[in-house]
Amino acid sequence: MISFTQNLHTHTKYCDGANTPEEMVISAAQKKMLSIGFSGHAYTEHDTSYCMSVEGTVRYANEIKTLKEKYRHIIDIYTGLEQDYYSVSPLIDTDYIIGSVHYVLKNGEFIPVDETKEIVLSSVNRLYNGDIYSYLEEYYNTVSDVQNKTHCDIIGHFDLPEKFNADSKLFDRENERYINAWKKAADELIKSKAVFEINTGGMSKGYTKEPYPRAEILRYIAYRGGKVTVSSDSHNGSTIDYKLQESVQLAKECGFKEIYFFDGTKFIPKKI
Ligand SMILES: [Zn+2]
Ligand SMILES: [Zn+2]
Repeated sequence: MISFTQNLHTHTKYCDGANTPEEMVISAAQKKMLSIGFSGHAYTEHDTSYCMSVEGTVRYANEIKTLKEKYRHIIDIYTGLEQDYYSVSPLIDTDYIIGSVHYVLKNGEFIPVDETKEIVLSSVNRLYNGDIYSYLEEYYNTVSDVQNKTHCDIIGHFDLPEKFNADSKLFDRENERYINAWKKAADELIKSKAVFEINTGGMSKGYTKEPYPRAEILRYIAYRGGKVTVSSDSHNGSTIDYKLQESVQLAKECGFKEIYFFDGTKFIPKKI
């Protein structure tokens, strides 16, 4: 099987990551990766706690440009952004975009999907009369539009609400409304040109036992002809290659025949 030596989903100190871009590059090179892409959180007006600032975004782009040149004989480096559904339009030129939904907007209020389980539960109680499935329908409804809205190349962590559902206590995966919601979003996104990422970030942080999207959803995406790539949504140098190879194996088991790599300008399939 091919070895997966690329990670396009990485964060640095410019947003909520622990390391500088150069430290991430060095770590990736030490782990024998052939390319790394930076995907700093794009500026989001309503919540600046986790994203890059406006002027930080410009410095981020300049620093990556310098690193591209400095390490050009060692590793390929790409400039990306992780655009939230509610981020401002990209402030810099990028090689690629990851489109993600981190909030559900209800009655003018942004509910953070992945901050804490308590915030999700209290928001659902307050804004959805305790109906978690209405909340999930709203989430997947937003996800279904994420490519339209962000023009992303990669669909980020498709089933992010799983972050707090490892014990199946937040919601029931067999619930029909939930199943219909994710299938509808998957169908819509498969029609777009974007590639789904198999994202091991929830696993590396100890929240989930499966990547986003979990295997059942991956099998559905494979069956329906969707495309996948692999990333670790790394927030520090040690997790740059976290379970990437295992994820390629999982993709294969879920029915994918190919996995997509970025070559600097486009996504190309490689047989697995
Ligand atoms: Zn994200
Ligand atoms: Zn991310």
